[in-house]
Order: sequence, then structure tokens, then C-alpha cells
Amino acid sequence: MNRTLTDFVLKGGRLIDPAGGRDGQFDVRVRNGKIEAIDANLETNGANDIDIKGHIVTPGLIDVHLHLMKGLGAFGVDPDIFGVGSAVTTVVDAGSAGHTLLDVFRNYVTDNAKTRVLNYINLSTLGGVSGPGYSILADPRLIDEAKIEQAVEANRDIIVGIKIMATGGALGAQGLKPLERARKLGDSLKLPLLVHIGESWTKDTAPVHVGDVLKYLRAGDIVTHMFTVHPGGLLDGNRKLWPQVRDAKASGVLMDVGHGLHNLNFDVARKVLDQGLHPDGVSTDGHRGNRAGPVYDLPTTMAKLMALGFSLNQVIEMATANAAKLLGRTSELGTLRIGASADISVLKIQDREWKAVDSQNGTIPAHQTITPVYAIRGEKIYEPLAVEPP
Ligand SMILES: [Zn+2]
Repeated sequence: MNRTLTDFVLKGGRLIDPAGGRDGQFDVRVRNGKIEAIDANLETNGANDIDIKGHIVTPGLIDVHLHLMKGLGAFGVDPDIFGVGSAVTTVVDAGSAGHTLLDVFRNYVTDNAKTRVLNYINLSTLGGVSGPGYSILADPRLIDEAKIEQAVEANRDIIVGIKIMATGGALGAQGLKPLERARKLGDSLKLPLLVHIGESWTKDTAPVHVGDVLKYLRAGDIVTHMFTVHPGGLLDGNRKLWPQVRDAKASGVLMDVGHGLHNLNFDVARKVLDQGLHPDGVSTDGHRGNRAGPVYDLPTTMAKLMALGFSLNQVIEMATANAAKLLGRTSELGTLRIGASADISVLKIQDREWKAVDSQNGTIPAHQTITPVYAIRGEKIYEPLAVEPP
């Protein structure tokens, strides 16, 4: 049951806050919605105790790629399902809305959610209206820089970048021209580009080479679906990283997981990771069609990365400090600060043998699970929504 408490202490948990330099047993006191104290053994002094012995406390988890326009197309899911219902306090929509739908997104999704909902505005006027697999950038009239600019300027508080589907299916006869236009727009609006790679929805079009896409990206831009098995991914025919991928990463282009129905493949992930390329962000690409598997939630996606060899601290860093950097929001997100509004996740880590499943039904052995316990925003304490465990 969700609760509202004006004064409480999270007692006995292990706090892991990579950006704040903390890993150890710390209590956290929240009063009037703000973090009042973080200390090894806080006196309760009349506050409510929430006993979280054996659990992990982290800065509010951030899921940087989902589809959150509830009811829209095949994808739109209620943000609180993957958000506070999954011990995640911030979720980011990846391109459901083009400029025409941005006000609707804001009023209907962001302003009605219990979770903080941020937004990558779609370069295409159509956004996610048509569903996946359509040529949403193939007509030059479907990009309207002036209108995008107006929408962005009116909504800077929620907009974190511009989403581009860099697939043969989406770009169609326009080829790379939309990327050129996105580059100019990103520069003039000072917003990063979030670029979908991998021909996951359209099989009959020539894929776009990732090297061609990367020519248009700069430090701070983000490539999502880094572990896709579909044409247009990070590996060449010999399963080596394309040299342009190494160069892009070295120049500061960021890489995001974007699990989704199609785009987390463990074989590809192993090959990419073995060649030294690591994710900057971990995200579910959560939508209506993958909550019941293979994605489930962000904590499960983090546990899959642990099965691939990352430590608990590393995956927490990806979902907190690194995600805040990727969104350009380090002053408000990604770490616990005294005096700031409470934005906290509580997780349960268990030693258990299970099989992690990827988007192609491939499995690898996993030894630990991560499950949601609470999402805390201000005075509100949210319990997780039911999800079938993997
Ligand atoms: Zn997506």
C-alpha cells in the first residue's frame, strides 16, 4: 500500500550512492519531503521507522528510454508501471510525441504521473502515432524545425533531447538527410540526440550503417540499442566493433542498452563488452508489450547486466549517476543530497540461481536478482506493482 509520511527514517539499509561517494550502512531521515540527514546510526526521535535491514538504498533510479504515452499505438504504457511501481523515480519517454503532441504529453502524461516523466521529442511530426515500422522521416515535410523549436522552448523543464529513428525503414528515401537536419537542430537548441539503431521493425529495407549514423553524432549524444542483433548494430560481419564505434565512444558519444522486445541480445552484448565497450546508461525500452517479459522492469534489466559481468555497484551507478549525466540533470538527479527533495529507491538483492532471458529467448545463468521494494518521492512511499518474476 502506498503511504504518505511527513517524518520517517529508512533504518538499517546499505546505501549505495556512487555520485555521493557512499557505500555502507547509513540511515536516511526524510522530513517534510526533504532529506534531512544521512548517517550511520540516526536517532529516530519520534519519526516513523521504516525497517529496511538487508535491503539496498540508492538515489532514485532513472530509466532513460521508455514509451509512456498511455494508450497511444501499440506501445504507450502508464509511466507509473515502469516508474514508481518498479522502484524507479524518473522515467524518460523516447519519442512518443512529435511537436504536435507535446502539450498533450505534458498535460496527460507528465502532469498526471506519480513518477517524474521527462521527454525526448521526436524529430518526426508523427512521433509514435503510427506505431513501429513506418517511414516517419521519409517525407521532408515531416520535420518542422521551427515548430520543434517552439515546442522545446515552451517545455525545457521536461525535454532532455531529440529522438531519431535511424533505420532504413524510418528514413526511407530521405536517407541520411534527417540526421543532418537533426544535427543542426540539436546544435541550435543545445540538446543531445537520442538515436535508435538496429533494423528491428522493418526487414525489407536496406539497413543504415552505424558508421554513417555516427558521423552526425557528438559528445553527449546517445546511441540506444547498443546490444541489438539486428542489421545496423555495433558489430561488423566478423563480430568486431566497427572502428567508427570506437572512435565515437572515445569522442564522448554515449551508449544506452534499450532492452525492449528486440534489442538486448546476450551474444552481441558479450562480444561488445569483451571488446571493451561498456554501456553508459541502462534502460528498459519499456512499453505495453514487454512488461510481462522479456523486460519486466529496470531492476530486472540491471540484474541481467550483472549476469553479463557487471557488479551491483556498477549497475547502480549506471541507473543513477550516469543516467543523470546522460540527461544533463546532475544538479537535481542521481545522488542523495541533504536538503533536497527525497528521491530514493529501495531494492532487494537476493542470491538465487535463475536464467536471464534476452530479446531473442537466449539465456545466460544469473546468480542474483534485484527486485523493487519502494520508490520514495518527497513524502510519498510507493510499493511495487505486481509483475511475474522472470
Ligand atoms: Zn524504444
